[in-house]
Amino acid sequence: MTGEQHYLAGLDLAGRRVVVVGGGTVAQRRLPRLVSSGARVELVSPAVTPSVQTLADSGAVVWHRRPYAPGDLDGAWYVLCCTSSPEVNAEVSADADRLRVFCVRADAGSAGSAVTPATGNHDGLLVGVLAGGEHRRSAGVRDSVLAALRGGAVREAVAKPVGVALVGGGPGDPDLITVRGRRLLAQADVVVADRLAPGSLLEELPPSVEVVDAAKIPYGRAASQDAINSLLVSHARAGRFVVRLKGGDPFVFGRGFEEVQACAAAGVPVTVVPGVTSAFAVPAVADVPVTHRGVAHEVVVVSGHVPPGDPSSLVDWPALAALRGTLVLLMAVERIGLFAGALVAGGRPGDTPVAVVQEGTTRGQRTLRSTLDKVADDIAVAGIRPPAVIVVGPVAGLARPDESERASTS
Ligand code: SAH
Repeated sequence: MTGEQHYLAGLDLAGRRVVVVGGGTVAQRRLPRLVSSGARVELVSPAVTPSVQTLADSGAVVWHRRPYAPGDLDGAWYVLCCTSSPEVNAEVSADADRLRVFCVRADAGSAGSAVTPATGNHDGLLVGVLAGGEHRRSAGVRDSVLAALRGGAVREAVAKPVGVALVGGGPGDPDLITVRGRRLLAQADVVVADRLAPGSLLEELPPSVEVVDAAKIPYGRAASQDAINSLLVSHARAGRFVVRLKGGDPFVFGRGFEEVQACAAAGVPVTVVPGVTSAFAVPAVADVPVTHRGVAHEVVVVSGHVPPGDPSSLVDWPALAALRGTLVLLMAVERIGLFAGALVAGGRPGDTPVAVVQEGTTRGQRTLRSTLDKVADDIAVAGIRPPAVIVVGPVAGLARPDESERASTS
């Protein structure tokens, strides 16, 4: 590397006038971070992209709908030239130099008096990387640093969280946990994991982390929830940060709120990190959209853990049978015959499409397409096993156009 390097600084732009010239896709990428810094952003441009327009409409930036004019930089602390015209950008940056206002030139970084680092945010930590104009290099390093932070590979001297975090682990693929969930997991002292929580997330944990398999807690079904609750509370009270890792979303048939209540009753701080629920994600990866324009305007997620007519059932099967839209049945493989029968008895046509997706988002994923009349037999013949999501409704009959159809219609 030759010559001087730029000097990396953090600007406090809160309440200060920042002028952005040009309203295209470059400005669109820069504006959100400027706005969240609290800057008073004024945008000068004859035209803007729809998302810049949205920012202007919301009042987050003030848009002057006209070309740049001398005088626009008066009172500015910082300037970004983002027009597609090198001449205009050169004019703006020359004006900025005269006024001694730092100015970024989006079209020619080295020609401006400031450059924008590749930036990323991790839990309130801002990472900025400059690579002397090599954008791929700075973006690549930024991405790696963020990934390392998120994965816990970089040790941060941050205060360890306390209490219990109820984390939705997503439907199975370890990539489908949220960024926040993964970050908290990396900070855990104890992880209490459900059977359906993505197992490979646990393999990444250092040996110092105590992993409790909640499925192996040796009590009856009802008592085991109490045992889990007291486990969460006792570990947290002993000063350990506990992650309760659940499959999908913690509040979709996950008994998550019972655990929130138990922690709250014990005075243990508890936070909830939502997850990608299998109810929507598993159909999605099998090309079944739970809604589709002109096909389904409603989607109901139903638990199949008790049969229709069971005294403890809270499901109104005749009402579900009267719907035209999408039903997503969880925990329903064993009793699918009863559910399909109840729906047909209630008036849902027997030829209504059904899609069954076993172990969605994992390597064991398989999909079966059927109809209400045939689904129980087809599941038995195919040997479909839980966990599976069953989708009932016209969306289960949609497909991508195949090559020949596309060729004939285009
Ligand atoms: N809280 C979870 C659901 C728990 S109920 C969520 O939001 O996803 C358990 C049921 O979820 C299973 O019986 C099955 O119907 C469904 N399920 C969970 N993961 C699945 C997967 N990877 N593939 C198919 N079904 C899944």
